[in-house]
Amino acid sequence: MTALAWVLAAVGALAAMVLAALLARERSRSAEAARSSAAELADLDARAADQAERVRTREEILATIGDGIVLFAPNGRVVYANPSARDLLGRRFASAGEVTPESLRTAVARAATEPNGPSPATPVQTEFETGGRIIEAAAIHSGDGAVVVVARDRTAERQVERVRRDFVANASHELKTPVASIQALAETLRIVASDDPAAQDRFLLRLEAEAVRLANLVGDLLDLSRLEGGLGDSGSVNLARVLTEEVDRLRPRAEGAGLKLIVDAPEPVSVVGSESDLGLMIHNLLDNAIRYSPDGGEVGATLAGRDGDAELRITDTGLGIPARDLDRVFERFYRVDPARSRGTGGTGLGLAIVRHVAESHGGDVEVRSVLGAGSTFIVRIPLPETSGPPAVAAS
Ligand code: ADP
Repeated sequence: MTALAWVLAAVGALAAMVLAALLARERSRSAEAARSSAAELADLDARAADQAERVRTREEILATIGDGIVLFAPNGRVVYANPSARDLLGRRFASAGEVTPESLRTAVARAATEPNGPSPATPVQTEFETGGRIIEAAAIHSGDGAVVVVARDRTAERQVERVRRDFVANASHELKTPVASIQALAETLRIVASDDPAAQDRFLLRLEAEAVRLANLVGDLLDLSRLEGGLGDSGSVNLARVLTEEVDRLRPRAEGAGLKLIVDAPEPVSVVGSESDLGLMIHNLLDNAIRYSPDGGEVGATLAGRDGDAELRITDTGLGIPARDLDRVFERFYRVDPARSRGTGGTGLGLAIVRHVAESHGGDVEVRSVLGAGSTFIVRIPLPETSGPPAVAAS
């Protein structure tokens, strides 16, 4: 081999070595790059999974809350609506333009055009009735024309407010009547009847009757408001004893009205509760039975433990209650015959108090009645759990 050939072979070998080294470096760089891409990919995957988890958690929360939540994109399309929103806002809508009723559609449109500002957007509020419910909704601008609507069912609150308003109006009306009568009678007494002793007596008797009516009304209103504040004194109460005491208290009146009063409460029956409230409940039922029964009738009171309850029945052979009024007699100020109720000293609150006491002791009251034949009021109050058979009272 010539020297030139040796040189060429050496250069060739060197070139091959350099090439191999270069290739090896390139390969290791690529492997490193591939390793770092795989790590980045894994990181991205983890972040995507984390994000998906967060979205799922938020969706789960939004799906369980009672408030309706709708998100409108800047172009008005519905991007998200939770199940409550579909339930509260009625029929399905895909965009802001399809939202009903009009007041909500207007609120969404107004919120969408609110200028973007540094401070939180002012919600555009609206309230409307749909599907028999009262819904309060707020549309809030959430940047770049997107809008979030939060809707809430306000039916129960509005109902309570209406009942309160009606009650205040009714109570004021009921109070005004005897007060006006007292004023008029006192004036007549002073001006017209001052020289006529017989007329004076007549007016004084009427004055007294109106004052009693006013006192009864104020008393019942105070009882009702106290009862709404929750149970007063609470302990073991022997209902049989309370019943006997109330019967004794009312017997002279019943007999004076020509009525027989028969009690059947052979066993002591104890419940847990307020003795004074339970006494008031029994008093009101007996008082009604006496007031709404004509001469010669019979009022019965029975008490026994039955199916885990103390069961009290007050029965009369009186006027009875028309079937259409049976559901309403427990409402405050509801009277079947207002003139008769007032004429016998009724306030229209007696049975509302009865129901309140029964329910605040975990029980209930029902009425059965045949017009012209009589009525039976049945109160059931749970016996204490440990008692099994009717408990023997502590007192
Ligand atoms: P009131 O003071 O008018 O008696 P209540 O709330 O006690 O008010 O009773 C409501 C209405 O139910 C009464 O006005 C009366 O029409 C009717 N009622 C209650 N108890 C009896 C009864 N035992 N027999 C007939 N009607 C009754």
